[in-house]
Parts: sequence; C-alpha cells; structure tokens
Amino acid sequence: MITHFSDPALRTRFHDLAATTVAKRADDCTAEHRLDLDSWQEISAAGIWKLPVAEELGGSGGTWWDFAAAFEGVAAGGRDLGFCLSMVAQAGLIRSLSTYGTPDQRQYWIPRLLNGEVGATALTETTGGSDVTRIKSAATSAPDGTYRLTGHKDHITNGPAADLALILGRVPEAGKRDITLFLVDLHAQGVTRGAPEDMMGNRTSPTGPIALDDVRVESRNILGEIGGGVDLIYDTIALDRLLYGILAASYLDPMLDEILAYTQQRQAFRVPIGEHQYVQGRVTDAKFALESTRWVSYGALDALLQQRPEASLMCSVAKYHAGETLKLGTETALRVYGHLGYMEGPHTKALKDALGAVIAGGTAEMQRKNVFNQMRSLQHAA
Ligand SMILES: Cc1cc2nc3c(=O)[nH]c(=O)nc-3n(C[C@H](O)[C@H](O)[C@H](O)COP(=O)(O)OP(=O)(O)OC[C@H]3O[C@@H](n4cnc5c(N)ncnc54)[C@H](O)[C@@H]3O)c2cc1C
Repeated sequence: MITHFSDPALRTRFHDLAATTVAKRADDCTAEHRLDLDSWQEISAAGIWKLPVAEELGGSGGTWWDFAAAFEGVAAGGRDLGFCLSMVAQAGLIRSLSTYGTPDQRQYWIPRLLNGEVGATALTETTGGSDVTRIKSAATSAPDGTYRLTGHKDHITNGPAADLALILGRVPEAGKRDITLFLVDLHAQGVTRGAPEDMMGNRTSPTGPIALDDVRVESRNILGEIGGGVDLIYDTIALDRLLYGILAASYLDPMLDEILAYTQQRQAFRVPIGEHQYVQGRVTDAKFALESTRWVSYGALDALLQQRPEASLMCSVAKYHAGETLKLGTETALRVYGHLGYMEGPHTKALKDALGAVIAGGTAEMQRKNVFNQMRSLQHAA
C-alpha cells in the first residue's frame, strides 16, 4: 500500500519556476543543442536537489517524495522532456551517493551536486548498453595506491556538460568479478568530453562520449566494493526508472488538457471532433496510460523507499510504461491535431523526444527481461 504522496505545494512552486525558466528557454536550447544551464542553476538555487538529502550534507532533510513533487512541477511547467531527462540522471547520481557513498564520499560529492554542478552516470560503451558486462573501460592500480582508469563511454546524458560522473569500469586484477564504480571529476587530467551527439530528439539533454586516458582515481573514490559495480548500479538506477514514469505522466498532463480543449474547438461533420467516439477513444486511451503510469510509478517509489522485495520489478514496470505512454501520448497529439500535428513544431518535437524514452534508462525489452526475472525470483522466495 502506498504510504506517501507527493506534496502539491512543492509541485506548484516548481511548476511556476519552470514555466518562467525552462519553458522560456527550451526552443533556444533545442536550436543550440545544449543543456539549459541557466535554468539548471535557477532550479538548483531553489533547492530542488536538496529536497531528498539529509541536512548534515547540506540538504533540506526531506524525502524522495518531495523531490518527486518538485520534479512533477518541472515536468509540467517546463514542458521540455530533454531537460527532465538530464534531471533524472542527476537525481540517480545523488541517490547512488546518498545510499552507497562512504561518509567522505557523501561529504565531498553530494554538496557539489546540490549546488548546481551537473552529474552523469556512464555505463554504455560501443560494445552496447543493455549488456553492461561487456564494457572494456578498465583501471589498474598504481604504486601510489591510486587507480588509473582508461576507456571510452558513449551516449552519456549530460556528458558534454557534466562536471562529475559515476563511471562503470573493470579492475582486471581483481579477478573474474571485477566490474566497479568510479567517481570521477570530469575536469581531471586525462578526461575528454566529446561534442553532443546528433540525436533526433531531446536536444536539450545532450548525450555524448566521455574518453578516459589514464585518469587518476583515488581508491577512496570507488563507490561500493571493487567487483560490486553491477549489483550496485542495477539497484541505484532503479530510482531513475521510476522517475521516467513520474515524468511521463506529469509531462503529458498539460498536453492532454490541450488536446481535450482542441477536440472541443475543432469541427468535423458539423460537430466538434470530441463528439466522435473514435476521437474520444484516442483521448481516453492516452488518459488510461498516463494515470496507470503515474500510479505504478508512485507504487514503485514507495516500494523502493520501503525496500520491499518487489521494488526492482515495480521500477521496471514504471520505466516500461513511461516509454510506451510517452509514445502514445505524443502520438495522440499528432493524430488529433491532424495535419497541424504533422507539421514540424511542438507536436513532432514532443514525439521525437518521447521516442528517446523507449531506449534511455534501459530499453523496453530489458524492462521486460527484468520483470520476468524478478517474477521468478519473487516466486522462488515465497
Ligand atoms: C536519450 C538517451 C540517453 C542516454 N543516456 C545514457 C546515460 O546517461 N548513461 C549511459 O550509460 N547510457 C545512456 N544511454 C544509452 C542507453 O542506456 C543504451 O542505448 C541502451 O541501454 C541500449 O543499449 P544499446 O543502444 O547499446 O543497444 P543494445 O544493447 O545493442 O540493444 C539493441 C537492441 O537489442 C535489444 N536487446 C539487447 N539485449 C536483449 C535481451 N537480452 N533481450 C531482449 N532484447 C535485447 C535491445 O532492447 C535493443 O532493442 C542513453 C541513450 C539514450 C537514447
């Protein structure tokens, strides 16, 4: 049973802030293919990242429900999916550090993220993103007790703009179980951040390569244990997965309101198109999907925070629905607006942005795989 809900006052506050920042700059940032760092700073200064973080780390001592409420506000008020994808990456990194960081790691890295620096989580390489065990980035230990990390990451959200990153690599000398997470300052010597990749959408959430050439990483900047990277990353990106669901619902809310209004204005066959049942069906299908996604995501957040056994399964359900619902909702707009929807503009942009969500954060197929595996393991545990 869900024990908390997101706070409407926080939602409204961040909605209004995003409407006067993110929404105003989204077109320019799309054209210029960049993360909107001005809005990022303003939203950071308003304390969004502090919401779920303990006071002793500079946070405001709330919970992830508070963050979810504020994030819903940004999604609905900012109306820019890309900006929110960049926020998901940042939130995931904050949770990784809060949950698994040592006291030193938390003290050092978290305040940077709370105060406007941009974070990234870099798993994917040219060998593929679904099967992260094929990564080749690797570290060797140096005589001074540090590690030297070399490798190449691709398609990393915030990569071109990020200040720090959680990077998945290997420590071959550790033996068979060697996949490990490294906290890396992206301004360090040996790190090169590439130009934004030319994606069809989400141009305000630039993805890009991160090249690491013999980068010095102190052993205290290993997150978790050497060899513990895969388990840890699967757990920490669980939050990212459900945030996609929260994002999908809140981003589509105002769009669906506009679609509904349009069905009452636009006439066909001497009546508003909203009188035609096939049109009504499209609108209600989008609403069914949106509400299901919202509520399954709340359920997933609750399960995650309560550390219930079904948390991972629920987060994958939320992520799966997020991608499909964003696709359906934005396609509904395109269909209902007819030729106006098909003209290059806000509706085509929304659809192109939405399609990124069936791949980013783990593909739909990988969510199915996780759900099936989790179903089996929950059954065995019962
Ligand atoms: C907008 C965007 C942002 C991104 N941001 C990041 C980021 O911040 N950090 C990061 O590390 N990566 C990021 N990525 C990369 C993303 O995580 C990968 O693209 C994704 O995991 C898929 O990997 P791939 O592209 O290599 O496809 P592949 O892994 O090569 O998969 C190709 C196809 O095969 C399917 N497939 C693979 N294995 C299976 C299986 N076992 N069962 C069924 N189907 C399977 C996949 O679902 C897919 O359809 C981002 C991608 C996008 C589009």
